[in-house]
Amino acid sequence: MIFINWDQIDSIIKDEKPSSVLIVGPDGLITALLKIQEHLESMGIEAYISGDPSYGSCDLQIEKAFNVHADLIFNVGHRIGLERIGNVRFIETEYVFNDETLKRLIELLLDYLASNKIEGKAGLYTLSNYYSTYIKIREMLKDRIELAPVGKYETLLQGQVLGCNFYSAFTGSASYNILLGESLFHAIGLRLSTERRTLMMDPHAIEITDVEDEAAKALRSSFARIGLAMRAERMGLIIGEKEGQVNIKKAEFIDRELRRLGVRTVRIVMNEITPEKVNKFERIEAFVEVACPRIPMNVEGFRMPLLSYPEALALIKLKRGMKVENPFRGAVWF
Ligand code: SF4
Repeated sequence: MIFINWDQIDSIIKDEKPSSVLIVGPDGLITALLKIQEHLESMGIEAYISGDPSYGSCDLQIEKAFNVHADLIFNVGHRIGLERIGNVRFIETEYVFNDETLKRLIELLLDYLASNKIEGKAGLYTLSNYYSTYIKIREMLKDRIELAPVGKYETLLQGQVLGCNFYSAFTGSASYNILLGESLFHAIGLRLSTERRTLMMDPHAIEITDVEDEAAKALRSSFARIGLAMRAERMGLIIGEKEGQVNIKKAEFIDRELRRLGVRTVRIVMNEITPEKVNKFERIEAFVEVACPRIPMNVEGFRMPLLSYPEALALIKLKRGMKVENPFRGAVWF
């Protein structure tokens, strides 16, 4: 079940009195977006739903709101530690689970830890859509296993991770990680960034999954793409246009370093980075995108190797003859 914080929405409407609102969110929450649209219309507020998915708190769609003259943007499903950025309001939307489900999940976790002899302090982290459940699970687990302290990145919630930010897992002295939520990508990211064994604790399927094999596969495929890019004489450098993904300084740095190493570069600006758009550049042998590290890992169909920013740094090191074991080691990937 999905919980939408209607009190938060009503209080924003009461305080800010917008005439129109643009509602944005991921594809998986379309039903929630429609419910919010109906709610706003019933209050006499003009509501627009973005037909383009928002992939994170980095994807605010400010220009779209400007185009339709929306006073506010409701970003649904990407809660962070801030309530607002400019005219964007982050609306609390969460999956909720009954106590019975959480108890079963905890017993399953404890069995898994015992039968696999996993010991030491657990680092327990989550994604924003599970935050209330996360608080409950911490409370339920605290007397049953040893929990390591968790960190808080400046703009995020304590214990929250993003697909490009694992800072929360770099405080304390955890021996292994548990990610509460249903996202293999985030769990793999946590494994690769911390280099600690990582279990995904999925309250939807009521399952515990060790992501070791998937993480090893992601690392192999990353090195395969980097290996192919080593041969490229001309590379495309893709700069994302989404508000939190522009990263122009990083693009300039990679561009400069590649040129120093004798690679010709072409700068390309793109909003959503898709295989259809990238594959049009037929004469470019490899690409680096500095927008979002999940694109090369998660999206299939790129004809030529596409590297994220940490992979581009690894490519530069390898070209200089340095050793690289894991391009993703470290708290943040941007
Ligand atoms: S992983 Fe990508 S989509 Fe997620 S917050 Fe980072 S840049 Fe945005």
